[in-house]
Amino acid sequence: MTHQHPISKTINDIKPDDPVKSCKYIEMGSCFALAGVRCCVHGSIESPLIVTAEEIRDNTVSYDLVVQRNQELLAAITGLADGPTGECKTCGNLVDKKYKDVNFEYMGGEPLPAGLNIQHYTECNQRCTYCFYTQTNTFMKPQYSIIDYLDLFRKNGKLRGDNWIDFSGG
Ligand code: SF4
Ligand code: SF4
Repeated sequence: MTHQHPISKTINDIKPDDPVKSCKYIEMGSCFALAGVRCCVHGSIESPLIVTAEEIRDNTVSYDLVVQRNQELLAAITGLADGPTGECKTCGNLVDKKYKDVNFEYMGGEPLPAGLNIQHYTECNQRCTYCFYTQTNTFMKPQYSIIDYLDLFRKNGKLRGDNWIDFSGG
């Protein structure tokens, strides 16, 4: 199913000194989940999809689109636009900022716990008996290329090092 992202009508109206709510995961995090890319997943808390697996497979995702989707999420969380907010609105990682201090340009650049989180459900070649995926035989192949997504940032000089990378999801 395609995840819908309404275009914000107000994001361009935000002034540099306007107060907004943001977090480091919206600004620089990425969780590569089965359904697509989110800013974060922390246990049972997750932000909405920024781009879907289908969009990445269809090659319709650009660097500018990712930046725009993050702006839309910030606008929705701040109450300036409608749109999916997942569990962001009640998340303790949100901080009050001025819009001019928010930066969506880069991926990574700080060792945030699970800041780059690969939950890609790669078909695992082990079969640990205690594993949920072994017991339910639900190993899944990757649904899209993480490398293609990272390349959107790398080719624009916007992929930074010094990251905390989590691997999970089978
Ligand atoms: S506000 Fe919380 S749930 Fe939303 S992206 Fe930031 S850390 Fe994740
Ligand atoms: S996903 Fe992890 S726990 Fe499960 S079978 Fe593979 S290595 Fe073992």
